[in-house]
Amino acid sequence: MEQLIKGPINGETSLVGVLGCPVKHSLSPIIQNAALKELGLNWCYLAIPCKPQNFELVIKALRTINCKGLNITIPHKNIALDVCDELSSIAKQIGAVNTLIPSKRKNWFGTNTDIEGFRSSLLERKINYEGKNAIIIGTGGSAKAVLHGLDTLKFGKITIVSRTKNSLKKFLINNNNLCTEIDGLIQEDLTLEEYIKAANLIVNATPIGMENKANSKSSSEIPLGKSIWENLQPGSTLYDLIYTPKPTKWLQLSRKYSCHQIDGLEMLVQQGASSLRLWSGIEEIPIDIMRKAGQKALLN
Ligand code: NAP
Repeated sequence: MEQLIKGPINGETSLVGVLGCPVKHSLSPIIQNAALKELGLNWCYLAIPCKPQNFELVIKALRTINCKGLNITIPHKNIALDVCDELSSIAKQIGAVNTLIPSKRKNWFGTNTDIEGFRSSLLERKINYEGKNAIIIGTGGSAKAVLHGLDTLKFGKITIVSRTKNSLKKFLINNNNLCTEIDGLIQEDLTLEEYIKAANLIVNATPIGMENKANSKSSSEIPLGKSIWENLQPGSTLYDLIYTPKPTKWLQLSRKYSCHQIDGLEMLVQQGASSLRLWSGIEEIPIDIMRKAGQKALLN
């Protein structure tokens, strides 16, 4: 039975957290601590900066203290695969770990809640995507999680849009074991317009449009340029994995085409809720409280 608390941190407080480099801008501490408070769990969630060369040492040390679980973010998601003594089939399937759970053998069990987080955020909308068309822009780590999430939702076809032939080829080869029909295009392909017209869901899994303090123009960028989006069909869903600025220029633009919009906070909250469920064994995670805490932090 976990120690319940209504007050501040005390001598019995347990640690949970996220390891990354850099990690100080992470929203996860705000979202997770809001949930911990609501649940009355005597845990505290911290952002823990960790350089790649120290990753193994840090997670081994955290396993020897009262650490209840960890999230893993950039750049450690792949290396974490080699450090866990057990892996879930999902982590093996997509070659990345974002959640560590203490294992019985005094080590860590590694899994990945990004797929479930993405999938849950779409299921919450209660839109039936069976047999429909999806487009994913990008071929990086999050595109892979999105693809595997969409594969469980019975889409008719999923098209991957990449900026280079090489990235596209590699991505398609590495993800050739799915149930859904998958095809790929490079972003200059002239048929892309037709794909946008036929798409029921389009996911931006690139950093294009993200706020970047070093480049003030970056948040005004739109994936694939502005003109292609004139082909958007009303009623389709645009999902931007980015959550700063809120909303992104791409989501703002889609408003005039009467599209549904989802931003990256949803995936962040849902993957965090899945991790907390695994660490605590509590099924009913206060997702709405987590979402509100994230929204409030983004508005400040
Ligand atoms: P990643 O592994 O680095 O992949 C980025 C992808 O974007 C690559 O395919 C890259 O193409 C492409 N790309 C980058 N700059 C581009 C440009 N200027 N034009 C066209 N394509 C470009 O990154 P990631 O981890 O997948 O993350 C992608 C975005 O999703 C980031 O903004 C991240 O913050 C966000 N994200 C959000 C969540 C969430 O919970 N909301 C979770 C994960 C990620 P190349 O392959 O050609 O380099």
